[in-house]
Amino acid sequence: MEALAPDAFPLKERIYILKPGELALKGGNRRSFERALRHNLKALLAGSGAVINRTNGRLLVKCPAEAAPLVEDALAHLTGISGWARTRVCDKTVEAVMEACVDCAGECTHEHAGAGAGTFKLEARRTDKSFPLDSYGIRSLGGERVLAAYPNLKVQLKKPELVIEVEIRERAYVYGLEHKGLRGLPAGTAGRGLLLLSGGIDSPVAGQLMICRGMAIDGVYFHAYPYTSDEARQKVLRLAEIIGRYCLGMRLYTIGFTAVQMRIKERAPLEWTTVLLRMAMMAAAETLARQRRLQCLITGESLSQVASQTIENITCTQSRVSLPVMRPLIGLDKEGITRMAESIGSYETSILPFQDCCALFSPPHPILRGNAAEAGELYEKLELGELIATALGEARQDQCGYPERNPVHVSTLPPLK
Ligand code: ATP
Ligand code: MG
Repeated sequence: MEALAPDAFPLKERIYILKPGELALKGGNRRSFERALRHNLKALLAGSGAVINRTNGRLLVKCPAEAAPLVEDALAHLTGISGWARTRVCDKTVEAVMEACVDCAGECTHEHAGAGAGTFKLEARRTDKSFPLDSYGIRSLGGERVLAAYPNLKVQLKKPELVIEVEIRERAYVYGLEHKGLRGLPAGTAGRGLLLLSGGIDSPVAGQLMICRGMAIDGVYFHAYPYTSDEARQKVLRLAEIIGRYCLGMRLYTIGFTAVQMRIKERAPLEWTTVLLRMAMMAAAETLARQRRLQCLITGESLSQVASQTIENITCTQSRVSLPVMRPLIGLDKEGITRMAESIGSYETSILPFQDCCALFSPPHPILRGNAAEAGELYEKLELGELIATALGEARQDQCGYPERNPVHVSTLPPLK
């Protein structure tokens, strides 16, 4: 039998089944995590025409076939699910389920490279015990039927190319080719942080990782106009759009830091300028975070990746702030971070060739192992208080990634000053 072309599949509507991730492990809090997940999903699906249904233990999304790209994009941005797949829904009769298995195998092998020549296995779950076959029975009969229809396929229990899943619940669901979800927890369930977002590869990835842990984030970018161009700022805005979509919107604060950088250049020993600039950024970011009721700072630092990220220099930059500083990339190497940037969609933007303000003011031989006490003394001599306060007062705000701001949290937060 010929494999069916995907478009030949006679569905005018698409149904997706979502698999819960870590929240399945949550005890008493599970309900509130599920509510947040559903809330986020609804927000991401807004305007697509899709509807959400909840069966026992699973979320389902139903949409017109033409809305599939929008829905799949929404699912690819939803944190807190381990995976999702397009599913067939059929009556709970053995015949209907077997037909759906064969149909699913046909469609999946067509989509798969090497059509018809792959390996597969069937998985079955039966929460409705009145279904005439138990899960072993579903697996063996389903396997037989699929093999009869597609003799080129081979059963392989370990690491098959295709897993056909059958779930017998209030109806029967049959699906293959599961997409990996972002895992973690629903964005907005683990507090709010302020991401120091530069135009580089690292900080967007750091932000996305924290979002996957359930955090809602805002961003701050330190701009040194005219030493850095407006294109550099546009690039950071674009990155905030990309990352903001994962947490249903982030506000990006752009802070003009030229005066601060010039002061550092005038008053500080050349080899200290980068570390002192980082200290000033951290101090300014902390003030902003406290004003905006954000609970931590997030940076894209990775241990010893560059001179300003040795443990000694990180100690210097940390010394001006008391909010927790999250550095989710601290133990990762550049290759791993780059792969993550590619998968979350920020890499292409990050490598656009507009320099950020740090690169322009970098000394040729920056201090490698700054002493925190000395850093503190040098920092005091800069007398940056007023310059930073003015810069913060003139901050520009942009809403990125979603038209509203972190909707999960808006209702629970006290009003901003
Ligand atoms: P990235 O790729 O994120 O730019 P990087 O490897 O270039 O990081 P640094 O330039 O040393 O490293 O920056 C370390 C961290 O400091 C960045 O990940 C970011 O969190 C923060 N940072 C650096 N420059 C800026 C800036 N202009 N505005 C906001 N945050 C910044
Ligand atoms: Mg950088």
